[in-house]
Amino acid sequence: MKVAVASGKGGTGKTTIATNLVRYMAEMTDKALYVDCDVEEPNGHLFLKPEIRRERDVSVLVPEIDGNLCTGCGECKKICAYNAITIILDKALVFPELCHSCGGCQLVCPEEAIEEKPRRIGVIMEGDSGNIKFISGKLDVGEASATPLVREVKKAIPDFLDAVIDAPPGTSCPVIETVRDTDYVLLVTEPTPFGLNDLRIAVETVRQLYLPFGVIINRADSGNSGVNDYCLDEEIPVLAEIPDDRKAAELYSQGKLLYRELPYFREQLEVIYSGIIKQIEEYDRESFKEVK
Ligand code: SF4
Ligand code: SF4
Repeated sequence: MKVAVASGKGGTGKTTIATNLVRYMAEMTDKALYVDCDVEEPNGHLFLKPEIRRERDVSVLVPEIDGNLCTGCGECKKICAYNAITIILDKALVFPELCHSCGGCQLVCPEEAIEEKPRRIGVIMEGDSGNIKFISGKLDVGEASATPLVREVKKAIPDFLDAVIDAPPGTSCPVIETVRDTDYVLLVTEPTPFGLNDLRIAVETVRQLYLPFGVIINRADSGNSGVNDYCLDEEIPVLAEIPDDRKAAELYSQGKLLYRELPYFREQLEVIYSGIIKQIEEYDRESFKEVK
């Protein structure tokens, strides 16, 4: 079972839910996996405190122009959908940070002046935190696209472990890359107009991917009823409503997991975990019916 924890915006408590949930799952199943796909700002390690055992660079292929062969014909510039090539003084010039490694320019170059060379974009770290296996990506500063690194992080996920995957905030390409191929998406939000707006967009995105999903309302007693009303209207399960708690904020600021110290939080995790399993089972049954 692979559960992605996502949120339409940052600061909703997504990583708090993800790290506590994985610790709870590891208790239930003996071993679980935490994957930090929030590669621009990974912070799951602050709470799980893993021992990192392996670190490897991740690279993408970007074109390199042979100035002696390039005639400046502009075919490569024409095909590049990402404006990663321009022609200056009759020679092609590549902006590697904008390149999406599609390989198109190399294919169209009539002079065979383009070679692909690896360029590092970040690292993947793997380790352990007790009975939790830990995988995290970290994008290099200045990199424009997180998606290739997220893709590589996901390739490192073994099939045999139940996993909690911490998604980047928002609904952009790295988020889609994170949540696709998962079994369930947990959307963490807060009961404010901004929270509701971003939740709506996140729900539309997850629905496009045909994944079962549910909502957790964090700091539930601090805003208005807009998120609850929306979930009711849209028949979206609200798995938990977590109160705004000063003690929780203190534990968070100290990098501590909440569920060991706050009994009500542990109870919420039990409800969330069983709710996810129930929804996945029901979803599988419904999909089976449709196939039949
Ligand atoms: S397609 Fe090849 S020859 Fe033409 S501008 Fe690009 S690199 Fe130079
Ligand atoms: S590999 Fe694709 S994205 Fe990169 S410069 Fe060439 S055409 Fe553009």
